[in-house]
Amino acid sequence: MHDYITVEELRACTTCNACVQECPVSINPLDIILQLRRQLVMEESNAPQEWNGMFSNVENNFAPWKFSPDDRDKWTEKA
Ligand code: SF4
Repeated sequence: MHDYITVEELRACTTCNACVQECPVSINPLDIILQLRRQLVMEESNAPQEWNGMFSNVENNFAPWKFSPDDRDKWTEKA
């Protein structure tokens, strides 16, 4: 990583799976890309800034939103 593929290139992949289907030697490049992305986030803490708030919410609220789990069903109540 960083020598042969850049962070920008890793993040540019849309996981469309076309490279897996067309690879003539069945390398499964997408699996490698996903492992490298996982390495970026988990080991290098290198995620887009917009994702960090979502990670924090998942850790604290068990969902990507800023709402407390206790307030999650409030929408069902009449105002
Ligand atoms: S899955 Fe493969 S073909 Fe599709 S965007 Fe990612 S690298 Fe490119």
